[in-house]
Amino acid sequence: MIGVFGGTFDPIHFGHLRSALEVLQGLNLDQVRFIPLHGAVHRNPPEVTPGLRLRMVETAIAGQPGFVADDRELRRAGASYTVDTLRDIRREQPDQMLCLMMGLDAFNGFERWHLPEEILQLAHLIVMQRPGETRLTPAARQLLESRGCQGVAELRELRSGGILLRSFTQLQISATQIRDILKAGRSPRYLLPDGVIELITEHNLYASK
Ligand code: ATP
Repeated sequence: MIGVFGGTFDPIHFGHLRSALEVLQGLNLDQVRFIPLHGAVHRNPPEVTPGLRLRMVETAIAGQPGFVADDRELRRAGASYTVDTLRDIRREQPDQMLCLMMGLDAFNGFERWHLPEEILQLAHLIVMQRPGETRLTPAARQLLESRGCQGVAELRELRSGGILLRSFTQLQISATQIRDILKAGRSPRYLLPDGVIELITEHNLYASK
């Protein structure tokens, strides 16, 4: 079973990394693929180039068995959709179950994603509860009621389309907060790996203009 974790990772931080590790171990996955997005369809463009966001991910996950950096969305021209990425991985790994990981904030907007029904034919959803975010939109609640699984065993009985809502160690960290700290000239230490901070410093990323 493969975890698929897309994000802008602008920059990647311990909130992402801790959740990914808990999903990897809690669901006994073979791997978690970190897939930096070109730019998300529903939000402001990332501040940092794709190449540097990928390097930050590679640096953050170096040495962690089961964590893989996957640059397929960055290699594709223009914005890409999750459904294309899942189709791609499914083609490469036809025998593996796919688990698309997302925060509760993302799940609340899931019905507006491109081809959500096809996504559910290709993958399970692992919804990671985020600090301060317990609210479900009516559409998300309905989806959870119809497809929610109680645990990993129930999820594994299905090929795809199950939804597991899980609460993980709550780290109240966001990339926005880290960018703001850097813009204010303060240190983001202990919110993200030191190696990523070194890259940020070396390339003078997120500095106030
Ligand atoms: P930004 O502040 O720029 O919106 P972010 O910190 O939310 O960024 P993204 O790269 O947009 O990071 O997030 C990728 C995925 O990780 C999303 O599904 C998001 O919900 C989830 N995520 C982000 N921060 C956390 C956290 N602290 N704990 C658990 N999941 C998180």
